[in-house]
Amino acid sequence: MIFSEYSKYSKERPVISFEIFPPKTIKGMENLYNVISDLAKLGPDYITVTYGAMGSTRDKTLEIATLIKSNFGVDSACHLTCVGSSRNELDTVLSNIYGAGIRNIVAIRGDPPLDQITFVPPEDGYKYGSELVRHIRAYEEDRQMKGYFGIAVGGYPEKHLEAKDMDTDIENLKLKVEAGADIVKTQLFFENSHYFDFVDRVRRAGITVPIIPGLMPILSAKQIERITSMCGSTIPHELRVKLDEAQGNNGKERNIGISQCIKQARELLDSGVPGLHFYVLNKSEHMKEIIQSLGVGSFRQSSEKHALTNS
Ligand code: FAD
Repeated sequence: MIFSEYSKYSKERPVISFEIFPPKTIKGMENLYNVISDLAKLGPDYITVTYGAMGSTRDKTLEIATLIKSNFGVDSACHLTCVGSSRNELDTVLSNIYGAGIRNIVAIRGDPPLDQITFVPPEDGYKYGSELVRHIRAYEEDRQMKGYFGIAVGGYPEKHLEAKDMDTDIENLKLKVEAGADIVKTQLFFENSHYFDFVDRVRRAGITVPIIPGLMPILSAKQIERITSMCGSTIPHELRVKLDEAQGNNGKERNIGISQCIKQARELLDSGVPGLHFYVLNKSEHMKEIIQSLGVGSFRQSSEKHALTNS
């Protein structure tokens, strides 16, 4: 599927997607191959592959996205950021993505390096995600392939860390959609009220594209503390207390994380979200439990009427 097709799906047949990242080592790649194989068996609609801040893992994004499609028959998406790329270099990456037959791009600004507070755009490059989206649409237009790429952008239910307030952040989100984004994928969150409030505000601002909730199952308390401190998502008090009580017991921490994710996902599905995007952290066993419990992906009941409109 491509991102522009979300409207063909429904509450009865939500889109299920996973996100993985390119590992740094050969061993990590070997391990990821097995993880992708297991994830593919869960029947996702597509898998996205992140784009590293700089350096060697960048080329791996397209390599892994291609492998997902060719070896496992699952649609994939390449993330692409503004970090360290001039407009010409972005064109080269886009041409490689096109050449590989990948149709979806998650277009993201990227983060400043750890030693910088503000994002400094590369020479002849871009400062904001909206500019990257505009660049991709102009690339298509120049090559008479309008609408070829499905484009997703990031949205922040708890506000982006750098934004002065939520209204400003949503106005900036609107710029990305007006530039040509098909869908918004949210940053991870642990309280669904953040997502529901965000969708309300986004709709009031006149943004109509699908807003796909992003969920990260917690596998370890330490790891999630590190991740949330970087991205600004908050851990609700009740969940934090449970994790503190389980501290040091990996099995317990993992079970708390999986139950939390299932609870959030169920409520979101019941509310009629167009899909669920899981940040799977390059692991698959926990996703098997989650997907099976939700009865989505290849675990959808055969009696379910999930024929796609238009297909
Ligand atoms: P933008 O939309 O450009 O916004 C960044 C900040 O600038 C916000 O505070 C916004 O309010 C503000 N802003 C936007 N436009 C304007 C304007 N015109 N004038 C003034 N202010 C403005 N990082 C990676 O390195 N690789 C990845 O693959 C990756 N994938 C991600 C996928 C998802 C779904 C998400 C949610 C995040 C991802 N990230 C990734 C993290 C991302 O790089 C950071 O969250 C980054 O800080 C913001 O990226 P953005 O595209 O949302 O930024």
